[in-house]
Amino acid sequence: MSTASADSYETLMQFLYRAPIGLVETTLDGEITMLNPMSVQLLMMLARDSDLVNFFTALDAVAPQIRALTSAFTGASGVVCEGVRIRLDAISGLPAAAGNTSTQVISVSLLKLNGANLMGVLTDVTLEVQREQQGLDRRLSVAVRTDVLTHVPNREALRERLQQVIDRPRTRIGETFAVLFLNCDRFKQLNDSLGPATGDAVLGMIAGRLRSTLRLLARTDRIDACETMVARFGGDEFVVILDDLQHPEEAQAVAQRLLTALFAQYSVGVQQLGLTVSMGVVHEAQSPANADIVLQLASIAMAEAKSAGGARFAVFEPAMQIRAARRGEMEAELRRAIVDRQLFVVYQPVVGLRSGNGAKSAVDHSAGVEALVRWLHPTRGVVMPHEFITLAEECGLIGDLGEYVLDAACEQFVRWQHELGPRAPRLLAVNLSKAQLGRAGFVERVAGILRARSMKPGQLQLEVTETLAAQDESVQEQLRALKQLGLTLALDDFGTGYSSLASLHQLPVDTVKIDRSFVSQSDTSPHHRVLIEATVRVANSLGMTTVAEGIETDAQAAVVRQLGCDKAQGFFYSPPLAATALAQWLVGASSLAANRVPRCKAAAQKTSSALVNDCA
Ligand code: C2E
Ligand code: CA
Ligand code: CA
Repeated sequence: MSTASADSYETLMQFLYRAPIGLVETTLDGEITMLNPMSVQLLMMLARDSDLVNFFTALDAVAPQIRALTSAFTGASGVVCEGVRIRLDAISGLPAAAGNTSTQVISVSLLKLNGANLMGVLTDVTLEVQREQQGLDRRLSVAVRTDVLTHVPNREALRERLQQVIDRPRTRIGETFAVLFLNCDRFKQLNDSLGPATGDAVLGMIAGRLRSTLRLLARTDRIDACETMVARFGGDEFVVILDDLQHPEEAQAVAQRLLTALFAQYSVGVQQLGLTVSMGVVHEAQSPANADIVLQLASIAMAEAKSAGGARFAVFEPAMQIRAARRGEMEAELRRAIVDRQLFVVYQPVVGLRSGNGAKSAVDHSAGVEALVRWLHPTRGVVMPHEFITLAEECGLIGDLGEYVLDAACEQFVRWQHELGPRAPRLLAVNLSKAQLGRAGFVERVAGILRARSMKPGQLQLEVTETLAAQDESVQEQLRALKQLGLTLALDDFGTGYSSLASLHQLPVDTVKIDRSFVSQSDTSPHHRVLIEATVRVANSLGMTTVAEGIETDAQAAVVRQLGCDKAQGFFYSPPLAATALAQWLVGASSLAANRVPRCKAAAQKTSSALVNDCA
């Protein structure tokens, strides 16, 4: 060896000697031939009771596999093992304390240099292991705080963050926070009719839209300095925290933007789904110090938004809490009412305008009846449906309620056929709530009721609202299945919902009921007359019949008849009546008509409105 190469070898040996890694050279049997100070230090930790004569003996207690791996290694040279980690707490025999990352860990690698020598490399990897452990802990804690389905923080993470937001001292004047509580409208129906996989996909898309809309708003709007969080509260409920808002009103602006973003169609596979959301907003000023109570208040405001028809937001105010408590009581009472049979049905006549001259006594009184539910409350007396139908829909009671009404009305209808013969109503109309269609087996149960009551399907008409009839494909499918039973469908309250005359042809209905808000102005407003006339014309061209609702005066009766409505209903003819009163009305009306006929005939040459006055 030249002097120069001897020098560099010496330098290398010095370097390796002082290196912060342990190096140990051994024979193939593990007899130690060379050690640097670092390896002494590390081996002493690993093998407290060993005299450091043999490398394998020193490691046998903690890493016996190293001896075994060496025996099994048949190559002339190469890596026997690499990075075998040994925890020092394993040596003491003490179990590692949970979460204890300070335990020292040593890594051992072994290289076969040639047919006679091995080189061991020992390093202290404690810090590296700690860093790995911390990273793992972080990932784990994110995982347990993230909703698996939507990948946004879950309820636990939300509560924690909200509590921090509530507790945090405000640094800037005017800085405030708000909480938005979102609940999808009719999500259960979507889930039941299209399957949970579709429901899950939609929930994922909702979370995505919430996040992307907030990101977009942060870039373009005044909420750029605002800290936001989107979390899934559970089921179809999401919560958004808006922190560091400059003005409380900004929360409403964000709420509106989110509603709009969530309203756009959702594509799941080949399906296009529509969805709306109800939202409750709680401002810091109304917010108590406890995150759970804030969320409760926000959900109360959300329930108000929902009972106002959904697809909107409501800002929490204390009166809502009182109403919520009242609703809770009423829900319990309504449950009892269904069991205790406190519900009963009244019937409003639907008269035919095509026969006779349209005058009150000359109309066809037996054209039909509409069944309307009432609740005989033990202390409040008769409660009208507008006070409890929405509640029944929201708390899942509408299914039982609706089927009770349908069954009772069918039973009564058949009884009239026996009692009144030709004077009995020919068609029974029963209102169908949007929540009823979502119930599994609904169509079969309607068929069952018709069979059990021996009623011909053609004698039944189910009334649906525009918002229901215009819904997605699955709802339309259910409606078609109902029609296949042989019954007919009426579109209730036409003119108050979304659909227009132009989309009437898409709805699987046989009859259009023109809403009272049009009819009530038919005698005074030419505009409303034109609308009624157009509705009648379009409906007729599609083979549908029309009913004018809420006729209160003879003038209205005359106008709707003149405009071509087939049938009419309203206080002018009769208010809703109990079953026996309706039978009397039918009998009385027909005998009255019989007496009036000659007078009406005599007036046959007069104009229709004059005629109505004569015969009323
Ligand atoms: P609707 O289906 O539009 O029923 C007609 C409502 O208008 C009835 O109110 C009826 O009493 C009222 N009405 C009839 N003629 C006149 C009139 O000339 N003037 C005025 N001002 N009102 C008139 P009711 O019985 O209070 O029912 C209200 C709503 O509750 C119904 O509106 C219907 O949507 C719902 N409803 C009633 N019974 C049931 C039911 O069994 N199931 C479901 N799902 N909903 C029902
Ligand atoms: Ca109706
Ligand atoms: Ca109606």
